[in-house]
Amino acid sequence: MLVQILGAADCVTGSRHLVRGVDGGLVLLDCGLFQGWKPLRERNWLPLGVAPPSLDAVVLSHAHLDHSGWLPALVRAGFRGRIWCSPATRDLAEVLLLDSAHLQEEDARRANRGGWSRHLPAQPLYTRRDAARAIESMRPITPGKDFSPVTGMTARLTPAGHLLGACSVTLRDRLHTLVYSGDIGRSDDMLMRAPQAVPDAPDLLLVESTYGDRQHDDSDQQARLAAIVRDTVERGGSVLMPTFAVGRAQALMLLLQRLRRSCEIPASLPIYLDSPMAQAATRIHLAHARLMRLSQAELRTLCEGVTAVEDAADSRRLARRKTPAVILSSSGMATGGRVLTHLAAMAPEPRHSIVFPGYQVAGSRGGRLIDGAREIKVMGQIVPVRAEVHHLRGMSGHADASGLIGWMRQLPAAPAQVLVVHGEPAAADALRLRIGRDLGWSARVPRPGETVPLAVDLSALEQPD
Ligand SMILES: [Zn+2]
Repeated sequence: MLVQILGAADCVTGSRHLVRGVDGGLVLLDCGLFQGWKPLRERNWLPLGVAPPSLDAVVLSHAHLDHSGWLPALVRAGFRGRIWCSPATRDLAEVLLLDSAHLQEEDARRANRGGWSRHLPAQPLYTRRDAARAIESMRPITPGKDFSPVTGMTARLTPAGHLLGACSVTLRDRLHTLVYSGDIGRSDDMLMRAPQAVPDAPDLLLVESTYGDRQHDDSDQQARLAAIVRDTVERGGSVLMPTFAVGRAQALMLLLQRLRRSCEIPASLPIYLDSPMAQAATRIHLAHARLMRLSQAELRTLCEGVTAVEDAADSRRLARRKTPAVILSSSGMATGGRVLTHLAAMAPEPRHSIVFPGYQVAGSRGGRLIDGAREIKVMGQIVPVRAEVHHLRGMSGHADASGLIGWMRQLPAAPAQVLVVHGEPAAADALRLRIGRDLGWSARVPRPGETVPLAVDLSALEQPD
């Protein structure tokens, strides 16, 4: 077996790992989009590093775009194989990939209108048609069941918490076993069950390191949010929570329902979910409810008293609302979407609060606000910021360094090789050191594009005399 690291080697996006089996099968583990700073995003326009028509199959760990978002480009470039993933990943990927394709088409249209593309006319990275074809190629497979993505290789998915449907992947040829963590969730995630132990002893382990240098802050986010909401309502204001539509929005609904039930916030306080994508994602969560750790009662009441705002006119009307409410709206870092209308209306007024749950990339509108910006540009207008701005840390869907070590400790045997991927350089290196210290395994951080051969035990090939 040979593994080539085609993405997420020096960053947290663009996860793509190419595996060549001993019998020649070619399987791609994840096919993610590069996101964030421009030099990273430009990598999306480069060729994959292997001819897409020559690939036999893709195995997808989960639906987040940094793992799935390049699939339509792969199909556009001639890939005709199957994409294996869990059933919930397929359902969420459908929502995420179609939305991503829509944004790519919009970007190209804007570039053509503005005339700033180097290529005229500007082409989208991919279209909704490409996304639809990628979704048609998906083959949902139940976690825990063996399947064969290509002759000579078997694979299995193991639930990893983190996001609905997210799994680790075991891939085996007749000589070697590879385990790929995907993204590992927290054992105390509000919504998702704890990651399961992978039962296979790997020759090679590929492990993510997003929070490889951090421990989560365990302070009580629930109590903090309750206090913010109570104070805001007392002064007659509303709370705006910019949120990711998939996963985070559902966790926030759960948190707000718990606060209402325990009377930590007013039980009659209206809650609005102003994001069509979050509404679609909520329906998918409820359809796969047994993957979550919620009780039957919590499942039944998740959407109770939450008003789903369907069309854009209602969203604009909501932005003019005078009485207190909680508004959940996308995008999560306020980089676009309906949340911008609310931000423009609410930021200038000191009675309101804007609460960012989770990581905010430096340079994004969310990042600037939590850094204390006194004014921001929204839809071409300079908007003064007089509302309270809060950042709820500790709502991440990723395991911290101890969580990652704990997940690795559950493997039945020490891997011969460990490659640390999917982390900023400092986080990846910190996890590498910690793996050595806590587990006694030697690990390293691969270079982008590096090919890693797995040692062949000749005795496995040759018959003894
Ligand atoms: Zn993820």
